[in-house]
Amino acid sequence: MLSAEQLERYRRQMELPGLGAAAQEKLLASRVLVLGLAGTGSAAARYLAGAGIGTLGILDCLSVSVGELHAEILSTAADQGAKRTAAAERHLGQLNGDVRIVCHEEALTAHNAEELFRQYDLIIDGLDDWQGKLVASDACMLVGKPLIHAGVSKYRFQVFTMVPGRSACLRCVFHQIGMEDLSRPDAPAGLHGPAVGMAGALQASEAIHLLARLGITGADELIQFDCLRREFDCVRELKPRPDCPDCSIR
Ligand SMILES: [Zn+2]
Repeated sequence: MLSAEQLERYRRQMELPGLGAAAQEKLLASRVLVLGLAGTGSAAARYLAGAGIGTLGILDCLSVSVGELHAEILSTAADQGAKRTAAAERHLGQLNGDVRIVCHEEALTAHNAEELFRQYDLIIDGLDDWQGKLVASDACMLVGKPLIHAGVSKYRFQVFTMVPGRSACLRCVFHQIGMEDLSRPDAPAGLHGPAVGMAGALQASEAIHLLARLGITGADELIQFDCLRREFDCVRELKPRPDCPDCSIR
């Protein structure tokens, strides 16, 4: 049962078709884990907190750097050197007191991912390395939790919603779009801040759709956008590979 304060806070959101009080209560009962706060994860977390996701886990083991503030919206220059999780927790707490913030000040590894993911309904991939993204994909497939992936390179971003049992895993998707052999770069590539923000906002939108069971999520489609060309691309019919160990166990 929503309180009078919640009815006021979420009034504009609940006026949306399909997003009434029952959907809002689902969001308030939901648990989402955001992996990484330096890039798309910060924008996704901002919108998810505003939407009233009841429990928001934030995972990041690094500190705020002013060199990343063009793309990261949960810290300010005054937070330089502070833990990203602490800065984000303060910002999100001031935004919406309905949201319980759970900080995980650790790196994601193949050893901790499964246990972490079991505590949440849905995972947001805001990581900036491909190895970490594949760890997240493997663990999500194992525990049966949706993973909303985003990747940003220079002016381009991509978003893919992985739903175990309904879609291919990230390993299969990377193979089909020719990204499976990308290695960790020696130095961070250039990054367009607005591209990061758009990708994170799209991740939050996909998460709200899934959690509120609203509309159709394109589980076999990867969306790409190039800010220089100002063109959207949609790679369709991404299928599980017959020899994929993650997809074949389901
Ligand atoms: Zn697969």
